[in-house]
Amino acid sequence: MECCYEKKLVCVSCPMGCRLTVTVCGDNINVSGNTCKRGEVYGKNEVTDPRRMICSTARIKGGVHPVVPVKTDKPIPEKLKFKCMDVINSLDLKSPVVAGDVVAANILDTDVNIVVTRNM
Ligand code: SF4
Repeated sequence: MECCYEKKLVCVSCPMGCRLTVTVCGDNINVSGNTCKRGEVYGKNEVTDPRRMICSTARIKGGVHPVVPVKTDKPIPEKLKFKCMDVINSLDLKSPVVAGDVVAANILDTDVNIVVTRNM
C-alpha cells in the first residue's frame, strides 16, 4: 500500500511567493498552485532534496570590523546546515579579502564553497 501525504509550501524562487501544494504518493510527486515551471521544480526538490543558502559572518583579523559577511555559493543540503555553520564558525580570516573570495572550498564534500560577500 502506498503512503501518500500532502505538503503546503510557499515558493521562494521569486517574489510572487506562490502557494504550492505538493502531493507525494510513492514515487509520484505532483505540484499544484505554481505559476511557472520553477515552482514545480522547487516543490519537488523540497520533498526529495531540500537545500538552503546559508548567510552568516566569519571572524577576520586586521579588518575594519571583527567579522565579515560570508555565504554559501550554492544551496547546501538542509541536513548539513548546522555542520556548515560549524565550518563558518571555525574560519579565522585575515584582511584583506575581496567580495567573491572563496574562503572554504568544497565544504563537507558538497561542491559548495564559502565566499566573502564584501571587501574588507
Ligand atoms: S511558482 Fe514561479 S511565479 Fe510562483 S513564486 Fe515560484 S518562481 Fe515565482
